[in-house]
Amino acid sequence: MTMDIPVLQSYLADQWFGREPLDVLLDASSGVAAASTHAEKPDFAAGLHHARRQGVHGLLALDFQERAQRLKQLSKHLSEHKEELYAWSTHTGATRADGWIDIEGGIATLSAYASLGSNELPSGNVLHEGPVVSLGRKGHFVGSHILVPREGVAVHIDAFNFPIWGLLEKFAPSFLAGMPCIAKPATSTSYLTWALVRRMLQWGGLPVGSLQLVIGSTGDLLDRLDGQDIVTFTGSAATAAKLRANPNLLSRGVPFNAEADSLNSAILAPDVKPEDAEFELFAEEIVREMRVKAGQKCTAIRRIMVPRRQLEALSQRLREKLSKIVVGDPRSSDVQMGPLASKAQQADVLAQLQRLRKDCATVYDGGEHPFAPGAHAQTGAFVGPTLLLCERPSEVAEIHDVEVFGPVSTLLPYDDMDEALELAARGQGSLVATIATRDAATASHAVRRAAVHHGRVLILDAQAAQESTGHGAPLPMLKHGGPGRAGGGEELGGLRAVTHYLQRTAVQGSPSMVAAVVGEYIRGAARIESDVHPFRRHFEELQIGESLLTHRRTVTEADIVAFGGISGDYFYMHFDEIAARQSPFGQRIAHGYFVLSAAAGLFVSPAPGPVLANYGLDTLRFIKPVRIGDTIRARLTCKRKTDRRKTDAQGRGQGVVTWDVEVRNQDEDLVASYDILTLVAKRNAD
Ligand code: NAP
Repeated sequence: MTMDIPVLQSYLADQWFGREPLDVLLDASSGVAAASTHAEKPDFAAGLHHARRQGVHGLLALDFQERAQRLKQLSKHLSEHKEELYAWSTHTGATRADGWIDIEGGIATLSAYASLGSNELPSGNVLHEGPVVSLGRKGHFVGSHILVPREGVAVHIDAFNFPIWGLLEKFAPSFLAGMPCIAKPATSTSYLTWALVRRMLQWGGLPVGSLQLVIGSTGDLLDRLDGQDIVTFTGSAATAAKLRANPNLLSRGVPFNAEADSLNSAILAPDVKPEDAEFELFAEEIVREMRVKAGQKCTAIRRIMVPRRQLEALSQRLREKLSKIVVGDPRSSDVQMGPLASKAQQADVLAQLQRLRKDCATVYDGGEHPFAPGAHAQTGAFVGPTLLLCERPSEVAEIHDVEVFGPVSTLLPYDDMDEALELAARGQGSLVATIATRDAATASHAVRRAAVHHGRVLILDAQAAQESTGHGAPLPMLKHGGPGRAGGGEELGGLRAVTHYLQRTAVQGSPSMVAAVVGEYIRGAARIESDVHPFRRHFEELQIGESLLTHRRTVTEADIVAFGGISGDYFYMHFDEIAARQSPFGQRIAHGYFVLSAAAGLFVSPAPGPVLANYGLDTLRFIKPVRIGDTIRARLTCKRKTDRRKTDAQGRGQGVVTWDVEVRNQDEDLVASYDILTLVAKRNAD
């Protein structure tokens, strides 16, 4: 065959390779060849070696903050070039709206992880996971936990349905964590991931070896992994089960995170009537989940639990909506639903649909659904939206077991809410359930039970609907994954996703040693005291452990009265002698916020200097009361420095400094303890 289509190349050991075409990948609508895989076998040993050497080295030459910055720059770069990805995306059958979820959803995930890294991760490559626990009586021996980047490779195996988002949602946390990755997209839509990886590499900001790509088979890749590596998988439960059982992964204890298929549910609660807004919202959510990506979403609603008395009304509402979906070639702007990603998928969906039809009635028949002009079932992978009804869902096992990965959903009538929840649980572990209800007590009861079997639960009501991101959208800040059949993985979820790629280790030692390891001041560790007030030092000059012990201040009744006047806080504990005497403290005490304010007065260095702003307190505890006549003083110690590489409006560099504050009384008892967060200017522009 003469080929004027690109041969998709793998990228391993810093080289694109593969010239000989192997499998031809077809456009989902027209059936015309779009690209082909390559025939040459990759050298996975070389790819792994490259990642473990150059990749790890290059990534760890940066710290968490710098990697977060690169992610931000990368998301900007991809945004600027997104149209070339959209062009490839239409081959998968995706409409512009479908492509938006995959492409812009993926880019937004990069950006979300960039912000997360910038806000929550330290400078350096050691993440301290407190608290510090005292392991001896005198404070000479403490323990804590650190998380450090694994010195291996993350192999990211993805399903065909989200070729961009699927890689980016895995790449972002692993890159942030400092692990190089080898991306293995599903073959049928690998041209889109190939286009993405080319664009990512062309950007030029990724350390050498941090991203590699495999087109086609993984060969012996998994057999070559070791305990520092990690595999993340998205795909069918059957493939997950097979890969998880790889003898090498098992014997070497290679972590395996799986997001697999799932028979997600939507439950219309008994309190919702056809005239309620929630009824319409529920119907819209179902139709959207059938239409978007032609139902090829791991989170799509496969089973719809409906109160038996509302079955007819809901069926009617759904029929009306489904009949209006315009199915056709996604290049046409009025098309709302494209074909499935490939003819193989079409054959699979039609075969699985036949299995369900044996025990189900048809409420809306996709076989009768008209296609827009130019869309042909013979050349393209079109399947019309299909709604089934299973009258006795507790008796039909297949309805809870067969995932038809297309625009197909089934109505399951129920008699009471507990029955609906039991039906949802028959999915043996799902990614997500939606519960539409107007009643908080129903939500509270149902969510507690549904949570056991789901990774995420959306409560749908009219208020949430005003801003809801919908049933089907995994979000980078919330967990994406599910128990049991859904794989048991936790692909997303803010910092949790990053920590998958970090090794957690307990560290024991003296406070000074543990402080040196975690890169933070720990109480009991050596401090640095000098004549220079720490607030007079610029960010670069300040050292962790630099400390100031303030002068003292005796707290008087006048202080309490004055503070009550300024704040308007006349709480009895400060102003009612009789009530205070009957309280556990036995006498009037100073306001906790007065103690805070007085401590600030003790440690502040008032003249203009490098400290630009105080923007908050963390971990505040009032530990002992401060009584009239008590004498307090504060100790301020530089605890943590985070360089977010930020500049102010004048272009001056600045960093975040966290200060440990201890306020003690005349008996050296701790009365207040907290962290202060400040922005501190750099001497030199960054
Ligand atoms: P799949 O057939 O299980 O394939 C998933 C991935 O595994 C593909 O990249 C595939 O590559 C690869 N793979 C298959 N056998 C392999 C082997 N022996 N060694 C290494 N890699 C292997 O799934 P799919 O058809 O692509 O995707 C559809 C399924 O994914 C649906 O069931 C859906 O529910 C599920 N899914 C789940 C999620 C989630 O987050 N939970 C998200 C999306 C999709 P090849 O393509 O080269 O075979």
